[in-house]
Amino acid sequence: MVSKRGTGPTTLRNTSGKPLISEKAERFTESVIRDMTRQAQLYGAINLAQGFPDFPAPPEIKRAAQQAIAADINQYAITWGAQSLRHAIAAKIRKWQGVEIDPETEITVCCGSTEAMIASLLAITNAGDEIVVFEPFYENYGPDAILSGARPRFVTLHPPAAPQGEWGFDERELRSAFGPRTKAIILNTPNNPTGKVFTRAELEFIRDQCVESGALAITDEIYEHILYDSARHISIASLDGMRERTITINGMSKTYSVTGWRIGWAVATPVLTSAIRKVHDFLTVGAPAPLQEAGATALSLPDSYYERLAQGYRARRDRLLPALRQSGFKTFVPRGAYYIMTDISQFGFSDDVSFAHHLVKEIGVASVPGSSFYSRPQLGARQVRFAFCKTDATLDEAARRLLRLRKS
Ligand code: GLN
Repeated sequence: MVSKRGTGPTTLRNTSGKPLISEKAERFTESVIRDMTRQAQLYGAINLAQGFPDFPAPPEIKRAAQQAIAADINQYAITWGAQSLRHAIAAKIRKWQGVEIDPETEITVCCGSTEAMIASLLAITNAGDEIVVFEPFYENYGPDAILSGARPRFVTLHPPAAPQGEWGFDERELRSAFGPRTKAIILNTPNNPTGKVFTRAELEFIRDQCVESGALAITDEIYEHILYDSARHISIASLDGMRERTITINGMSKTYSVTGWRIGWAVATPVLTSAIRKVHDFLTVGAPAPLQEAGATALSLPDSYYERLAQGYRARRDRLLPALRQSGFKTFVPRGAYYIMTDISQFGFSDDVSFAHHLVKEIGVASVPGSSFYSRPQLGARQVRFAFCKTDATLDEAARRLLRLRKS
């Protein structure tokens, strides 16, 4: 989360009085999402905070990883990714998005999509460049902007007035966020935390802004297969005029339930890719080699795998939504990804952070305070996010505990 400049520890200095902690590191805090996981452990709470599954990964890909280790694929892969995985990524993008990618020159495999995002930003931004970001945003984008020296320009995604409505942005606000210093827009669809799936018309409007100002789109599509209510995922790279100006980020974590493997990738034209590859090489050298081999197996799973994945998440969503409503939350129904944003106004707490603390400590359920997804914390002061990538047993126990809110 982004903090106010200079609020961190400033006592550590060299003999000339220079602070030993960088200004950049002082401008953000540790992740609130990951902190909530630690609090869940501390209080023995059910963890609906951090978005990782508490159920097993598919057996065939676990076997592929075990076999790769046994076959001694235990040394560095090629820095920008094992050939087998890059070819599987290109084949999958061709099949699902109809976009032709050269696996030799247009893909960089990274340590998770998290590294793919920061490596991409470091590869394209100079100090003072502007990056347009929708808010609420996935927490990492704030610190990513600071680390890369970019200045974020936030555009609000407004919550729907009705529970079944869609989150949306004001076209004039988005247009005015683009200017001569704009380097890129960060897009995340299906969206974390709102569950919004950007429509073709919205993506075309964003495309027009990018083309007019010569900016890039960096699109985080990690939830591409987790869709509900016949929502369709459209990759902005597939729109006319965007193939050349898009960096598409994706990874194995959410689609194959292996968030701890840290396998992600960035896809872009050769010129952009060669800049991303250089940054990636010196940041991490490479992603885990045997897990990349297992990735090639995972990306070749049949279509039925993705259908079952989406069905499973729809059932989980439809299990948690009524439980939240019964406990007094106003819910925003997600069309994709595996989070439910809620409005907590009716509980009468002063803000989201004190409510989330009450929830984890007294009720025994961890959530993420809404303010951690906003540059302006007041916008999230009446929201908290719940992750439902959990077993039925976990969701039912959380539901049982949340009912205590009605009594307290
Ligand atoms: N994407 C997940 C979330 O939003 C977790 C990401 C992480 O902690 N690296 O909860």
